[in-house]
Amino acid sequence: MRATVMYGAGDVRIENVPDARLIDPTDALVTVTHACICGSDLWPYNQMEHTETGQRMGHEFICVVDAVGADVRTVKAGDLVVAPFAWSDGTCVFCQEGLHTSCLHGGWWARDGIDGGQGEAVRVPQADGTLVVLPVGKDDALMPSLLTLSDVMGTGHHAALAARVGPGKTVTVVGDGAVGLCGVIAAKRLGAEQIIILGRHPDRIALAKEFGATDVVSERGGDAVERVRELTNGFGAHSVLECVGYEQSTVTALSIARPGGAVGRVGLPQQESIPTTLTSFFDNVTIGGGPAPARAYIEQLLPDVLEGTIEPGRVFDRVVSLDEVPDGYRAMNEREAIKVMVHL
Ligand SMILES: [Zn+2]
Repeated sequence: MRATVMYGAGDVRIENVPDARLIDPTDALVTVTHACICGSDLWPYNQMEHTETGQRMGHEFICVVDAVGADVRTVKAGDLVVAPFAWSDGTCVFCQEGLHTSCLHGGWWARDGIDGGQGEAVRVPQADGTLVVLPVGKDDALMPSLLTLSDVMGTGHHAALAARVGPGKTVTVVGDGAVGLCGVIAAKRLGAEQIIILGRHPDRIALAKEFGATDVVSERGGDAVERVRELTNGFGAHSVLECVGYEQSTVTALSIARPGGAVGRVGLPQQESIPTTLTSFFDNVTIGGGPAPARAYIEQLLPDVLEGTIEPGRVFDRVVSLDEVPDGYRAMNEREAIKVMVHL
């Protein structure tokens, strides 16, 4: 089978790899129909040291089940399913608490011998706990929005929950990538009154407004902090969604939280420590977040996608074939595309 392999920064190849196959009785073997390139895939695309063996890629995909192991009960051959960006058993203490990313028997795609989503087929461990059956056909018009449930929509939702978004709240979203845009959708869905987005790309800002952003701040750093304060009676925002992960964006996020507010961090931190701890300490700002338990949110968000209440699939502005995946990385890295879908 063919799959995406990254050998180092800027070096993405489509190659023949060993065929995915059933190994454990809890596995499913699936054929990928839709995948995508994640903003987090751009970190290794920019920084990865060259390796001889390469690294499989992809953790967001929709697929058709080809076969299941003897112990699999909830999915069967022929089902169209969505996979969240981490696999999990669905039964351990953390899964029962809704924190599937900390599953005691789970793990991540595209590492430790597990296939990646940017390829033709995948062995899915813990298939019962991981996969969710979709009640549509694989050519349904909702496919882009359903695909976002594997990561970006769940991640935006997680940021909003960690930032304690609710009715009447003032929300600021730091970052205008796909996750930030989904954060706007999540904030509106949870009843936020004012949604300020920090960003400067015209196409992304336009989409943010359609998703429910009420104000745009295109300044950066201290100027952005000042502008958000102006927009919030000088207080700052109740809820701040940090959807980037850089030190500067984290400083900005913490600096625009209102006293007693909360910051939900979902951008993969590019620094070891949380900056500006004194300000957040004296302002009683709650700092939360982490990798989203996307599996837990699929069932919460799926009805809204099926009803068309939310349309997170609009973050996809380019579709490529598997062969074109290397160019998809380039396009996302150069900010030519917000998010790239891979249609297999
Ligand atoms: Zn678990």
